[in-house]
Amino acid sequence: MAFEGLTERLQNAIGKLRKKGKVTESDVREMMREVRLALLEADVNFTVVKDFVKQVRERAVGAEVLESLTPAQQIVKIVNDELTKTMGEAAVPLNKAPHIPTIIMMVGLQGAGKTTTAGKLANYLIKNEKARPLLIAADVYRPAAVDQLKTIGQQLNVPVFDMGTDHDPVEIVKQGMIQADLQKNDYVIIDTAGRLQIDEKLMTELADIEAEVQPNEILLTVDAMTGQAATEVAKGFNERLNITGVVLTKLDGDTRGGAALSIRAVTGKPIKFTGQGEKLDQLDVFYPDRMANRILG
Ligand code: GDP
Repeated sequence: MAFEGLTERLQNAIGKLRKKGKVTESDVREMMREVRLALLEADVNFTVVKDFVKQVRERAVGAEVLESLTPAQQIVKIVNDELTKTMGEAAVPLNKAPHIPTIIMMVGLQGAGKTTTAGKLANYLIKNEKARPLLIAADVYRPAAVDQLKTIGQQLNVPVFDMGTDHDPVEIVKQGMIQADLQKNDYVIIDTAGRLQIDEKLMTELADIEAEVQPNEILLTVDAMTGQAATEVAKGFNERLNITGVVLTKLDGDTRGGAALSIRAVTGKPIKFTGQGEKLDQLDVFYPDRMANRILG
C-alpha cells in the first residue's frame, strides 16, 4: 500500500500532541523533528523537507494555535494545508489546443509506464470527452513497444499510426499528424522512446519531435516506486524539454511518498494524473488536497 510508513509516522508524531491538554512551542519542535525524519525516510527531497518543516513550524507556534483549545487539531490542519501546497494546491487540467488536434507527447524512461499511460489517456479522453484520439507509435527502438501500443489500440478501439521501426521518429510523427488531420482526430497522443537512463541521444530525439509538432502537452511519466530517483529524472527531462505535466505511475505499488511530495516543488511542474494499476481505466486526475488527506490517513 502506498504511503503506509509515512502515514503511520505522521500520525504517531501528531498523536503525541493530542494526548496533551496544552501544547508548548517545544512540543511543536519535537513533533516537527519526527515529521522531518518521517519525510526523509519516505524519500522526500531534502530541500522540500526543509521548506515544508519551516512553513509548518512557523504557523504552528503562532499564538492562535498554541493558545487554542484544540491545538493538535489545528496543527493537523496546518500539516494538511502545507502538504497540499507542496503538491501544487489544485488540480491542473490538460492543456487544450485552440484548434484540433490537441497534441500530447508522452516521454519518460523505459519501464516507467509511458505506453500504458498513452492508452490510459486515450481511454480517459474517450470516457470524459467522447474524444476521437489517434495514437502514434514513435518508439522505434523496441519493436515490442509498437506492438504493445497496437494491442492497446485494439483493446480501446482507437486507431494507432505506426511505420514500424525503420523510420526516423520525427518522420513518423509528421506522417501521423497528416493522418490525424485527414481523420479529424481531436487528440493525438505520441508514444516516444525511453531509455534506461537519460542520455543525450534520447533527449535530442525528443527535442526534435517537440520542435516539429510543438505539442500542447509534454507529459512525463515517472515511476512513483523509485522515490527520489523519479524526482531526479523529472529534473533531467525538464531541463531539456518543455515538460507541461507529470504522470506519477504505479501509485498502487509500495511507494513511500517521496516522488509525489517532491516533484512539484523541485521542478515547478504539476502532477496531472496518477496511475493506480496496470488496467487501462486505472488513471486518476491528481488532486493535491485529496493526496494530502490520503497521506495523513
Ligand atoms: P514504458 O516502457 O514506459 O512504455 O512502460 P510500459 O507502459 O510498458 O509499462 C511498464 C510496466 O509497468 C508494464 O508492465 C505496465 O503494465 C506497468 N504499469 C504501468 N503503469 C502502471 C501503474 O500505474 N501501476 C502498475 N502496477 N503497473 C503499471
